[in-house]
Amino acid sequence: MGNRRIQILKAQKLLNAALGEPVSQSYVYETAAWGVTKKQHDYFNQVLGYDTTLEPLELLDLCLDIERQLGRVRREPWGPRSMDIDILLYADRVIKTKRLTIPHALLHKRRFVLEPLAEIAGDIVHPILDTSIADLCAAVNGQSSIRKMGFA
Ligand code: AMP
Repeated sequence: MGNRRIQILKAQKLLNAALGEPVSQSYVYETAAWGVTKKQHDYFNQVLGYDTTLEPLELLDLCLDIERQLGRVRREPWGPRSMDIDILLYADRVIKTKRLTIPHALLHKRRFVLEPLAEIAGDIVHPILDTSIADLCAAVNGQSSIRKMGFA
Protein backbone atom coordinates (compact mmCIF):
# COMPACT_ATOMS: atom_id res chain seq x y z
CA MET A 1 0.00 0.00 0.00
CA GLY A 2 1.11 3.58 -0.45
CA ASN A 3 4.03 4.53 -2.67
CA ARG A 4 5.68 1.16 -3.08
CA ARG A 5 9.10 2.48 -4.02
CA ILE A 6 9.23 4.84 -1.06
CA GLN A 7 8.05 2.08 1.30
CA ILE A 8 10.78 -0.25 0.12
CA LEU A 9 13.44 2.47 0.44
CA LYS A 10 12.29 3.18 3.99
CA ALA A 11 12.54 -0.50 4.88
CA GLN A 12 16.06 -0.71 3.42
CA LYS A 13 17.09 2.33 5.42
CA LEU A 14 15.76 0.94 8.69
CA LEU A 15 17.30 -2.49 8.09
CA ASN A 16 20.65 -0.95 7.18
CA ALA A 17 20.58 1.30 10.25
CA ALA A 18 20.26 -1.79 12.45
CA LEU A 19 22.35 -4.31 10.51
CA GLY A 20 24.88 -2.28 8.54
CA GLU A 21 25.11 -2.11 4.77
CA PRO A 22 23.83 -5.24 3.02
CA VAL A 23 26.44 -7.56 1.51
CA SER A 24 24.09 -8.21 -1.40
CA GLN A 25 20.95 -6.62 -2.72
CA SER A 26 18.68 -7.77 -5.54
CA TYR A 27 16.80 -5.53 -7.90
CA VAL A 28 13.18 -4.82 -7.08
CA TYR A 29 10.68 -7.11 -8.83
CA GLU A 30 7.04 -6.39 -9.46
CA THR A 31 4.65 -9.30 -9.04
CA ALA A 32 0.92 -9.60 -9.50
CA ALA A 33 -0.83 -9.93 -6.14
CA TRP A 34 -1.26 -13.62 -5.41
CA GLY A 35 -4.19 -15.53 -3.95
CA VAL A 36 -6.43 -12.49 -3.87
CA THR A 37 -9.84 -11.93 -5.27
CA LYS A 38 -10.16 -8.19 -4.88
CA LYS A 39 -8.35 -5.79 -7.16
CA GLN A 40 -5.21 -4.55 -5.49
CA HIS A 41 -1.81 -3.14 -6.38
CA ASP A 42 0.87 -5.48 -7.60
CA TYR A 43 3.64 -6.09 -5.09
CA PHE A 44 7.22 -5.01 -5.06
CA ASN A 45 9.62 -7.67 -3.83
CA GLN A 46 13.30 -7.47 -3.05
CA VAL A 47 15.86 -9.64 -1.26
CA LEU A 48 18.73 -8.29 0.83
CA GLY A 49 21.66 -10.21 2.27
CA TYR A 50 23.28 -9.18 5.55
CA ASP A 51 26.16 -10.30 7.69
CA THR A 52 24.86 -10.10 11.22
CA THR A 53 25.61 -11.16 14.75
CA LEU A 54 21.92 -10.98 15.65
CA GLU A 55 20.39 -14.33 16.50
CA PRO A 56 17.46 -15.44 14.31
CA LEU A 57 14.81 -14.47 16.87
CA GLU A 58 16.43 -11.07 17.40
CA LEU A 59 16.38 -10.61 13.65
CA LEU A 60 12.71 -11.58 13.53
CA ASP A 61 11.92 -9.00 16.23
CA LEU A 62 13.77 -6.38 14.22
CA CYS A 63 11.78 -7.25 11.08
CA LEU A 64 8.47 -7.09 12.96
CA ASP A 65 9.45 -3.79 14.53
CA ILE A 66 10.29 -2.28 11.14
CA GLU A 67 7.00 -3.57 9.72
CA ARG A 68 5.23 -1.77 12.55
CA GLN A 69 7.20 1.42 11.97
CA LEU A 70 6.13 1.30 8.33
CA GLY A 71 2.52 1.11 9.31
CA ARG A 72 1.80 -2.57 8.96
CA VAL A 73 -1.73 -3.27 10.01
CA ARG A 74 -2.79 -6.90 9.88
CA ARG A 75 -6.17 -7.19 8.29
CA GLU A 76 -6.71 -10.21 6.08
CA PRO A 77 -3.80 -12.65 5.64
CA TRP A 78 -3.49 -12.22 1.87
CA GLY A 79 -4.73 -8.65 1.65
CA PRO A 80 -2.81 -5.49 0.81
CA ARG A 81 -0.07 -4.57 3.25
CA SER A 82 2.27 -1.68 3.71
CA MET A 83 5.29 -3.88 4.35
CA ASP A 84 6.10 -7.54 4.86
CA ILE A 85 9.63 -8.52 5.86
CA ASP A 86 10.51 -12.22 6.00
CA ILE A 87 13.69 -14.09 6.86
CA LEU A 88 14.31 -16.45 3.95
CA LEU A 89 17.57 -18.10 4.99
CA TYR A 90 19.96 -17.76 7.89
CA ALA A 91 23.29 -19.27 6.76
CA ASP A 92 22.65 -23.02 6.62
CA ARG A 93 20.55 -23.10 9.78
CA VAL A 94 17.32 -25.07 10.02
CA ILE A 95 14.87 -23.76 12.62
CA LYS A 96 11.33 -24.85 13.27
CA THR A 97 9.75 -23.25 16.29
CA LYS A 98 6.40 -21.71 17.02
CA ARG A 99 7.59 -18.24 16.06
CA LEU A 100 10.10 -18.96 13.37
CA THR A 101 10.62 -21.34 10.44
CA ILE A 102 13.93 -21.10 8.59
CA PRO A 103 14.34 -21.59 5.68
CA HIS A 104 11.06 -19.74 5.15
CA ALA A 105 8.36 -22.38 4.68
CA LEU A 106 7.17 -21.10 1.29
CA LEU A 107 10.49 -19.96 -0.13
CA HIS A 108 10.81 -22.85 -2.59
CA LYS A 109 7.28 -22.44 -3.91
CA ARG A 110 7.22 -18.80 -4.85
CA ARG A 111 8.73 -17.36 -7.97
CA PHE A 112 8.52 -13.82 -6.58
CA VAL A 113 10.86 -14.92 -3.77
CA LEU A 114 13.14 -17.24 -5.74
CA GLU A 115 13.79 -14.87 -8.62
CA PRO A 116 15.31 -12.04 -6.55
CA LEU A 117 16.95 -14.56 -4.19
CA ALA A 118 18.56 -16.38 -7.13
CA GLU A 119 19.92 -13.05 -8.36
CA ILE A 120 22.05 -12.66 -5.23
CA ALA A 121 22.38 -16.24 -3.95
CA GLY A 122 21.78 -18.68 -6.82
CA ASP A 123 24.59 -20.98 -5.68
CA ILE A 124 23.36 -21.28 -2.12
CA VAL A 125 21.93 -24.70 -1.36
CA HIS A 126 18.60 -24.97 0.46
CA PRO A 127 19.58 -26.81 3.65
CA ILE A 128 16.49 -29.03 3.72
CA LEU A 129 15.82 -29.61 0.04
CA ASP A 130 19.52 -29.91 -0.78
CA THR A 131 18.93 -28.06 -4.05
CA SER A 132 20.45 -24.79 -5.17
CA ILE A 133 18.34 -21.65 -5.20
CA ALA A 134 19.00 -21.34 -8.95
CA ASP A 135 17.54 -24.83 -9.54
CA LEU A 136 14.56 -24.15 -7.29
CA CYS A 137 13.98 -20.96 -9.23
CA ALA A 138 14.13 -22.73 -12.59
CA ALA A 139 11.47 -25.15 -11.34
CA VAL A 140 8.89 -22.40 -10.76
CA ASN A 141 9.38 -20.34 -13.88
CA GLY A 142 5.94 -21.35 -15.12
CA GLN A 143 4.37 -19.26 -12.35
CA SER A 144 2.83 -15.90 -13.18
CA SER A 145 5.37 -13.57 -14.65
CA ILE A 146 7.32 -11.09 -12.63
CA ARG A 147 8.96 -7.94 -13.85
CA LYS A 148 12.46 -6.85 -12.92
CA MET A 149 12.42 -3.11 -12.30
CA GLY A 150 15.27 -0.81 -13.21
CA PHE A 151 16.19 -0.05 -9.61
CA ALA A 152 17.32 -1.74 -6.45
P1 AMP B 1 3.53 -12.83 7.88
O1 AMP B 1 3.38 -11.41 8.26
O2 AMP B 1 2.33 -13.43 7.24
O3 AMP B 1 4.80 -13.04 7.08
O4 AMP B 1 3.72 -13.64 9.25
C1 AMP B 1 4.54 -13.13 10.25
C2 AMP B 1 4.78 -14.16 11.33
O5 AMP B 1 5.30 -15.35 10.76
C3 AMP B 1 5.82 -13.67 12.32
O6 AMP B 1 5.20 -13.07 13.43
C4 AMP B 1 6.61 -14.90 12.68
O7 AMP B 1 6.32 -15.36 14.01
C5 AMP B 1 6.18 -15.95 11.69
N1 AMP B 1 7.34 -16.49 10.94
C6 AMP B 1 7.69 -17.80 10.89
N2 AMP B 1 8.78 -17.96 10.14
C7 AMP B 1 9.14 -16.72 9.68
C8 AMP B 1 10.21 -16.26 8.84
N3 AMP B 1 11.12 -17.09 8.32
N4 AMP B 1 10.28 -14.91 8.60
C9 AMP B 1 9.35 -14.07 9.12
N5 AMP B 1 8.32 -14.45 9.90
C10 AMP B 1 8.21 -15.77 10.19
